Formats: sequence, C-alpha cells, structure tokens
Amino acid sequence: MAGLSLKKKKILADEVWERLNEEFPDSDCSLEKDLPERLAVRGILSAQCTDVTVNKVCRVLFSRYPSMEDILKADISDIEDMIRPCGLYKAKAGSVMEFARLYEEEWGREVPSSREELMRCKGVGRKIANLIMGEIYSIPAVVVDTHCKRVMYRIGLTSSTDPLTAEKDICKVFDEDRWIKLGHLAVDLGRRYCKSSKPDCDNCPLKGICQRRGL
Ligand code: SF4
Repeated sequence: MAGLSLKKKKILADEVWERLNEEFPDSDCSLEKDLPERLAVRGILSAQCTDVTVNKVCRVLFSRYPSMEDILKADISDIEDMIRPCGLYKAKAGSVMEFARLYEEEWGREVPSSREELMRCKGVGRKIANLIMGEIYSIPAVVVDTHCKRVMYRIGLTSSTDPLTAEKDICKVFDEDRWIKLGHLAVDLGRRYCKSSKPDCDNCPLKGICQRRGL
C-alpha cells in the first residue's frame, strides 16, 4: 500500500465511513433479494450490466421459471433469450444453468455460505461470492465492483486497481463489521458523485479528505 501510511489510511477510512453514512444512511444492495438462490442468479447476471436491468430481466425470468428446478428443466435457448438484455447472454445462461444444477443436485437446495463452494460455479467469481456471503449470511466480505475499485483508489485507500489487491487493502483499513455496507456505500458514491468520466468533486461529501488520485 503505497501513498499514505497505514495509520493515516485508517484515520482516513474512519472519516470516509462517517461521511458516507451521513450522505447515504439507507445504502443497501440494489439487486432484489427475495430468495437467496434468486439473488445468486441476479449476481451472475450482473457482470458488466446495471442492477436496474438485472432486476427487470429477473422479474420476467422468475415469473416464467420460479424455482431453480424450473430453470434446470428449461430449454437453455429460452433462458438465453430472456437474459439477452444483460449482455454476455450465452455464457451467463450457461452459468445460470450450472448454478441451478449445483443447487438442485449437490447443495441440497441451499445456497452455500463458503466462498470456495460458491466459486465452483462458473460465473460466480469472488465478487459475487462476497455478495452472496454478505447479503445472505451476513458474513463480512467487501464486494469490490467497478465503482468500489475506482472510488477507493481515488480516495487513496488502495494503490491498486486489481480487485483482489484492492479488497485486501480495504480490509486492512476498515473494521470487518463495516465491510458489507461499505461496498454499498462505495457504489452510491460512485453513482452519484465519483463517476468514472467526470467526478463531481466540488459537491462530493468526501471533499477535503479525498486524495483525488487520477484514474
Ligand atoms: S472528491 Fe472527487 S475523486 Fe474524491 S471521492 Fe469525491 S468525487 Fe471522487
């Protein structure tokens, strides 16, 4: 972790936490969370796609195929057609079918709580595994998505744009009881102020403490 010392990063992280909670008190996962297995499917579909689109697509998908058993019995071309708006639809349809198979045939109709087990399913990378662990089981884990990675780098709390390194850096400076909500706060910050192309630093709640590193 280059840049600020670890001690200074922890002080900065505390201030970031306070300010973001004040700005976004109700920050939460923007994927719909009706059932654990459905959240996992939404997570798989969320790669390079907005949560709004995923939620919309899944409302139609789950109205036709309410359970993982129904998905497993479906014709994959029908799943592909339904999830097409999410992009990468062929690969994602394969991952959804694989998830449904594991859920039905190997996991005893339960979503696993371990990262290793979850990542046996292609399409479930570390980011989605962390999402599932946090949202379903309240196991501390930071979801480092594109927003989180970008804002943490700009703020100065990581010097890496590699998600795994950034996650490790973030976990060093925030207490673990903050990890789950922190991911949501970072997304809110990234969407409202710290946009990829044009950050609105003048109005940002982190103005004055952010290192404003270019990215
Ligand atoms: S001050 Fe600017 S760079 Fe820093 S978090 Fe806010 S919008 Fe992003």
